[in-house]
Amino acid sequence: MKIIRELESLKAERAGLKGSVGFVPTMGALHRGHLSLIRKAKEENDHVVVSVYVNPTQFLPGEDLDRYPRREESDRKICETAGVDLLFMPKTEELYHEDEVALKAPAYLGYILEGNRRPGHFDGVVQVVMKLFGLVQPTRAYFGKKDAQQLRILQKMQEDFFIPVAIVPVDTVREEDGLALSSRNAYLSPLERRQALLISKALKRASKMVMTGERSVSRIKKEMMETMAPIEVEYVEIVNRDFRPLSQIELQNSIILVAAKVGKTRLIDNIWL
Ligand code: AMP
Repeated sequence: MKIIRELESLKAERAGLKGSVGFVPTMGALHRGHLSLIRKAKEENDHVVVSVYVNPTQFLPGEDLDRYPRREESDRKICETAGVDLLFMPKTEELYHEDEVALKAPAYLGYILEGNRRPGHFDGVVQVVMKLFGLVQPTRAYFGKKDAQQLRILQKMQEDFFIPVAIVPVDTVREEDGLALSSRNAYLSPLERRQALLISKALKRASKMVMTGERSVSRIKKEMMETMAPIEVEYVEIVNRDFRPLSQIELQNSIILVAAKVGKTRLIDNIWL
């Protein structure tokens, strides 16, 4: 595996990769969730490129940019073991320019839910992913359904800009007890870790309700809020695949999304029905 920090080296190495290239963009502190994306990329492509870059433009002032976990050594080992060809760790000075062209996330999709709580977050996401796509020129790019709204926005970006890449969604990987894996779980104290479990518990409860015939969004939301009463819920929303709110569950076309704060840590999770 080659570790690449300079754009010139990335371009040279990329030019040497023949056949299909699977790309997994990450912010590092890699866990089994990331690994599942890498494995899928490995199965479906001749080569795999992983980027590790904590992108400053997707953090709002006052968010956790400075304390976001950085674990270069273990990221390197995980990628090496998984058979990654290129591990790309770009530097901000090279990636961003002065007075550059700035993309904007879609006016609706980019500013509801996560985008409402974190206005401008998805502008930063589309900006960095567009850059990385231009550099890596992947055949396929892998994104987790854990970040459902991000995934939808990047699918839109691919469609809207006719980018010749296939966006591949990957299922959420969870701990045995249900907690969705996230680099931010590292912030949780043992007590908070137990409280965080209420998020996946509420989603499981919702999924059971739907399985037993419940279709009313308001009743499902109410039950979920009760389950999560001990934590600070920012939103529970049930939307269709285009993120339009639903009043009745539509099977194969609904996503239940939760954002909640456990202590100081903000967590998101969802299920696709
Ligand atoms: P991040 O490093 O948090 O920016 O995540 C990089 C990629 O990994 C994104 O496409 C995420 O959606 C995906 N990802 C993060 N956590 C998980 C998980 N638990 N299961 C599957 N994919 C995940």
